[in-house]
Amino acid sequence: MKKKILVTGGAGFIGSHLCERLLNEGNEVICLDNYFTGQKANVAHLLSNPYFELIRHDVTMPFFIEVDEIFNLACPASPVHYQYNPIKTIKTSVMGAVNMLGLAKRIQAKILQASTSEVYGDPLEHPQTEEYWGHVNPIGLRACYDEGKRCAEALFVNYHRQNNVRIKIMRIFNTYGPRMHPNDGRVVSNFIVQALKNEDITIYGDGSQTRSFQYVDDLVEGAIRLMNTPDTITGPINIGNPGEFTILELAQKVIDMTGSKSKIVFQPLPSDDPMQRQPNIEKAKSILNWEPRIQLEEGLARTIAFFKTVV
Ligand code: NAD
Ligand code: UDP
Repeated sequence: MKKKILVTGGAGFIGSHLCERLLNEGNEVICLDNYFTGQKANVAHLLSNPYFELIRHDVTMPFFIEVDEIFNLACPASPVHYQYNPIKTIKTSVMGAVNMLGLAKRIQAKILQASTSEVYGDPLEHPQTEEYWGHVNPIGLRACYDEGKRCAEALFVNYHRQNNVRIKIMRIFNTYGPRMHPNDGRVVSNFIVQALKNEDITIYGDGSQTRSFQYVDDLVEGAIRLMNTPDTITGPINIGNPGEFTILELAQKVIDMTGSKSKIVFQPLPSDDPMQRQPNIEKAKSILNWEPRIQLEEGLARTIAFFKTVV
């Protein structure tokens, strides 16, 4: 059955892939975005579809519409961008959640929150399970994002407990792929752009910190499966690829795969930069029957092919 679905942050990197997939499945999609880090170009190819609608709106302001489901993705996700205006980042996470949960309550829609592995902070438990409460500095440079997302999770569970809103919390681990902005600032896009331009590859710190990188198509599959679970399943559920790499390994892989002449240079590590990150995905496997299918090399090849067309 055709559903009417609202995607906030739909003109961003992940949001644009999600909108595309939801439309391909025969749904009607309303994409809402203020274009802070997203752009119309990401969804330009969808505009001719009569079941797609694009609305400029800021989620810190109330918004009213009749839909069946809401995917709440609106929030800058790259440290450079979320630290540019940290107060606005907190407002986007917190007031955005209040506004979208209020809407979900009023129209009895199901609502999924794009939460993050950053709720675990610089984790003392490895790999991270959903039961781990995290190790977050509440007054550090990342707090605007981490604490904003943690508060959003608290809002979600309380709208569920107090008002029976049907919620789904998805904790997304580092995700990459085509349509990341060349100036996004996150590590995969930075390294690929630098490598393609034969510029220095900037490693922050000594490159021994780890991340587990997930290709965007796997994430979108996980998000849709989570949204389609019975109402008793609220999450949080980790969605990520457990393949863990050091940042130095990533740099070397990108140089090899692009045949670049770039040199690796080392720059200071930003404060509170997590040393390690790897999802435990047992819940996603058992509850959603989901696991990532695209491993780093294949995902990087697709992403490099995309960046060759834009840089
Ligand atoms: P992105 O920056 O490309 O997308 C975010 C989108 O939200 C952009 O289109 C932006 O313009 C929009 N937006 C920002 N503030 C807004 C506001 N106040 N009102 C309306 N729209 C607003 O980043 P992304 O990687 O696509 O991330 C999407 C979501 O997934 C975010 O909520 C992010 O926190 C979450 N997430 C992403 C990752 C990842 O690795 N990509 C990891 C964990 C969580
Ligand atoms: N990083 C890096 N060089 C860059 C961009 C990022 O070494 O040009 C590092 C960053 O310090 C962090 C890791 O790569 O340790 C992942 O950074 P990103 O901003 O992609 O995501 P997050 O830190 O939020 O996981």
